[in-house]
Amino acid sequence: MTILIAGGGLSGLSLVAHLVARPEPLGPIVVVDDGRRPLATAGWSYWSAEPGLLDEAVSRVFDRFRVHAAGRDRVVGLGRYRYRFVRGDDLAAAVTKAAEKRGDVVFRQGRVTDIRQAGQGAEAVVNGERIRADWVFDSVLRPEPVQVDAMLVFRGWHLHTPVPEFDPGVPTFFDFRTSQHRAASFVYVLPRGPQEALVEHTAFAPARSLGPGRAADQRSALRAYLSSVLGVRDYTIVREEAASLPLSTADVDRRRGSILAIGTKAGMIKASTGYAYRRIQEDSAAIARSLAIRGHPFDLPKPKSRHRLFDATLLDVVTQDPSQLERVFSTLFDRASAEPVLRFLDEESSIPQEGKLFARLPPSLYAAVGRRHR
Ligand SMILES: Cc1cc2nc3c(=O)[nH]c(=O)nc-3n(C[C@H](O)[C@H](O)[C@H](O)COP(=O)(O)OP(=O)(O)OC[C@H]3O[C@@H](n4cnc5c(N)ncnc54)[C@H](O)[C@@H]3O)c2cc1C
Repeated sequence: MTILIAGGGLSGLSLVAHLVARPEPLGPIVVVDDGRRPLATAGWSYWSAEPGLLDEAVSRVFDRFRVHAAGRDRVVGLGRYRYRFVRGDDLAAAVTKAAEKRGDVVFRQGRVTDIRQAGQGAEAVVNGERIRADWVFDSVLRPEPVQVDAMLVFRGWHLHTPVPEFDPGVPTFFDFRTSQHRAASFVYVLPRGPQEALVEHTAFAPARSLGPGRAADQRSALRAYLSSVLGVRDYTIVREEAASLPLSTADVDRRRGSILAIGTKAGMIKASTGYAYRRIQEDSAAIARSLAIRGHPFDLPKPKSRHRLFDATLLDVVTQDPSQLERVFSTLFDRASAEPVLRFLDEESSIPQEGKLFARLPPSLYAAVGRRHR
């Protein structure tokens, strides 16, 4: 069977890795990317309890992280979980190495302008040329979701400091010592070494509220956090990254004939966290399994509805009353180990485990879940 993957970013590369890892021959595979999101500057953090196929691309592993909410600072252990970081070019190197062993994967530079059904298969238009395949996986052309519940708006600085300022063993998962006035906001810190870190301002903003001026606000929040909270006054901004990710809890219709959306376009971003790495790995594994066993890529697990209800409710609550995010996070993470919360965010918790986790959440959140459920 022939396979074309539109987009060689996180979901495209992850799918290649999982396809070539199958014992059954699945290919030849063509991956097309126009380089608009260079892998050299991309990187993803995620947590996981199990080893993963692409672990050799992981460059940093943490067994705890710092959380600061409601005036309390604590370092929480991650139990069975590890928080990991993968650089884009390390991911590309690991995937290329795995693909070379198979010899039937071609990485092509090109711009995809159209993908459509063609007879029993599909075709993509790449730099004006039609390329046919039995299956096309699309991480580039699908429109953004119709229903957007909120936006995750972030701006981060990759910093270098002249003297050691960061604890290289402890990332800050969230620190709410930043204004909650316009949106539920926190700062995230990923240390790369004592003198290097990514410091990122993150906000859950209502979908309709995005206007100009936000970049200036985010930069001034980052400056204030560095100087007043971390006491870091001397630093060089090596690179800035910023994005606004639409968060949606709606069903995504991923399939069109022989074309399947993957990655962000397939709704892989978890609406209440903005993380997608692990979900993309699991989705890639499921697609490869389905292709190998069923001969088509559509035998995929269904999203879990009670987790969607929680995500939708959280976004509702925090976009209406930004101060609630800090209350929810401070309650959820007020424990020695983050394991139960991470399991829940991975949608792998049982109902009794969730009962325990939610027992101390603000009553306003229960009321909102009840309202949504009716
Ligand atoms: C700045 C940023 C940081 C993030 N950090 C994290 C994180 O730490 N952890 C996490 O879990 N999630 C994170 N996410 C969310 C999510 O995991 C990423 O967006 C992830 O890269 C999504 O994978 P994807 O394959 O859908 O998109 P991408 O990785 O962006 O891949 C799409 C690829 O398609 C190419 N492309 C686009 N249009 C075309 C076209 N017309 N023709 C050809 N090629 C094209 C691009 O060059 C790109 O390589 C982050 C998102 C952003 C924007």
